[in-house]
Amino acid sequence: MTDDATYIPERDHAHLSAAVPCGTCKTFIESERLDAAALPDNVTCTACGDETPLAFDAHVTLADAGAAALDGCPRCGYHTLCIQKDLNARFGVLLVTVSFGALLFSGLSIPKMLIGLVALAIVDWLLLRAIVKRVLICYRCKAQYRGFRPGARCRPFDLATWEAHDDALTSR
Ligand SMILES: [Zn+2]
Ligand SMILES: [Zn+2]
Repeated sequence: MTDDATYIPERDHAHLSAAVPCGTCKTFIESERLDAAALPDNVTCTACGDETPLAFDAHVTLADAGAAALDGCPRCGYHTLCIQKDLNARFGVLLVTVSFGALLFSGLSIPKMLIGLVALAIVDWLLLRAIVKRVLICYRCKAQYRGFRPGARCRPFDLATWEAHDDALTSR
């Protein structure tokens, strides 16, 4: 069995999208449903109206069947993106709450309820695992890229690297 902390599914979002911080005000700008064949070369901030350049051309490799592999950050040029589990947290909480709630009001005896709890925990865990997808996040500017295949230099999330970049940000 794979260790859940490092487990990353081989599953990507169906559509390409990006959430990048504005170069001026740092508001995250969401770009939904990007076209692999016509990726934008900038995004316009919804908060301050400034444009932030994106160098997708330099970082995206088109693979077969229209898939796009991303290596390095189009927003800031940093060479390593980390691969993380992208879990819809709200869905996860809802699933667990509803299933355990249903069990509580089922009127089962305590021993049966305990068995039910264990069974539900397993089902929830499997379901949650099935909906987890990959997201690529830039260590330096924290831009998020979904739907892209991880390129050769993408690495599983590493907390030490992440914190090193956070320290660099706050001491600047
Ligand atoms: Zn802005
Ligand atoms: Zn970046």
